[in-house]
Amino acid sequence: MEEIVTEAIVLESKTWWSGDRQVSLFTKDLGKIEAKATSGTKMTSKLSPHLNTMNFSQVRLVYKNNYIITDALTKNRFEDLRKKTELIEKALEVVSVINLITPPNLKDLELWYYLTTGLNKNNFNNKNLLKILGYDPKMATCFMCGKKGVSYFLTLDQSFVCEKCAGKIDILKLFKI
Ligand SMILES: [Zn+2]
Repeated sequence: MEEIVTEAIVLESKTWWSGDRQVSLFTKDLGKIEAKATSGTKMTSKLSPHLNTMNFSQVRLVYKNNYIITDALTKNRFEDLRKKTELIEKALEVVSVINLITPPNLKDLELWYYLTTGLNKNNFNNKNLLKILGYDPKMATCFMCGKKGVSYFLTLDQSFVCEKCAGKIDILKLFKI
């Protein structure tokens, strides 16, 4: 089995009842992938702290029907960012948007640099993110009234909405641009 070692940002991390840890990673070399750390091995508990959401870790993977994590090491937990509620909320929102709309298994260095630089500098430009993801707000029109000059992106519908029409939409669905 071929081993792959790559840097990754943990986008989402879930622990199943079985003890398996399922993570969504945005990797430098493979783009977004789903990977698993299987329970029952001594590795899992050792690996777990390195697979928390928003960790920057180096991971070792093997591919056998799906990606399995055989080793992980945290390079940066972005402690400064985690200390401030408003910063972490913004970063988690960006991480969740990337997790939801990035196509899997597609290497994207532009997005990789956007994400890692943003986490390092506590600075995210949501307009640039959407542009990198292929949704340039500049050309967008509101999906409700058809007007130009949009203020929010709806991640689930992948459409834009203007300030006025956004009032009719659940605030949790709105990604400010
Ligand atoms: Zn509108």
